[in-house]
Amino acid sequence: MIKLYNTMTRRKEIFEPIEGNKVRLFVCGPTVYDYSHIGHARTYISFDVIVRYMKYSGYSVFYVQNITDLDDKILKRADELETSPLELARRYEEKYLRDMELLGVEHVNLYARATEHIPEIIKQIGVLVDKGYAYETDNGVYFDESKFKDFGKLSNRNLEDLNVHRIGPDSSKRNPGDFALWKKRERISEEQEMIWDSPWGTGRPGWHIEDTAITETYFGPQYDIHGGGLDLIFPHHEAEIAQMEASSGKKPMVRYWMHTGFLNVKGEKMSKSLGNFITINELLDEYPQKYSDFSYFRPTTEVQ
Ligand SMILES: [Zn+2]
Repeated sequence: MIKLYNTMTRRKEIFEPIEGNKVRLFVCGPTVYDYSHIGHARTYISFDVIVRYMKYSGYSVFYVQNITDLDDKILKRADELETSPLELARRYEEKYLRDMELLGVEHVNLYARATEHIPEIIKQIGVLVDKGYAYETDNGVYFDESKFKDFGKLSNRNLEDLNVHRIGPDSSKRNPGDFALWKKRERISEEQEMIWDSPWGTGRPGWHIEDTAITETYFGPQYDIHGGGLDLIFPHHEAEIAQMEASSGKKPMVRYWMHTGFLNVKGEKMSKSLGNFITINELLDEYPQKYSDFSYFRPTTEVQ
């Protein structure tokens, strides 16, 4: 018997998959615009260890991670480095996968790129628009948070609390906390990357919708575990619940929400914005010997 701490209920619960011994797990993957730091590594190593233990305990696990390869950060960085956004995204994706390999993270069955799921994303946005949960403005398509009564159930906040903390509401939105599903952007040139056609004009998806479009594709509207760093609970995971439960009409979207804590440096969270981070790359450069110790635990190691 496995017990998990479920963020949704704030309790340890006995783990029971929806279907027999099959576990469908999704963990939010990286935005590939730079090297990943060891705070990210902590999350991915934690979930890899969890999957390892589940497999050891007799479960069959299908583990999907998304690769965010169409974010504004990628466009900005590509612009700074005078390279193509897609080329930049592929370069850092490769580095990420290499880092994971060197850390012995090896149980992800599928890395799903956002750019390869645009039709699924558009389809899900279309359902939300048709059902009245989303609306179009001059700037894009937004999820109307006031239409989804359960908004805030994972982070335990109500709408008023949530909106107090929002800054800079876009004047075209109905509520300050409404979030973008589709961002309208002009296509300036034919060969321009990261711009797609949609029923709402050219543009690109918002960040939250890629995960639920991907999980619906591989798992359907309900699955077992969703994981990620603590900082993703709000707004990212709240938005995911709203999108999936509103579009499918089924709840819960996932049975168990698992979140990893922060890696702290001198009492502060390791983060890119604070500049207090060590990349996985730097760590492995400095401590290359350590890796050979980890290989002891790899199931592929031959017994001498
Ligand atoms: Zn995510």
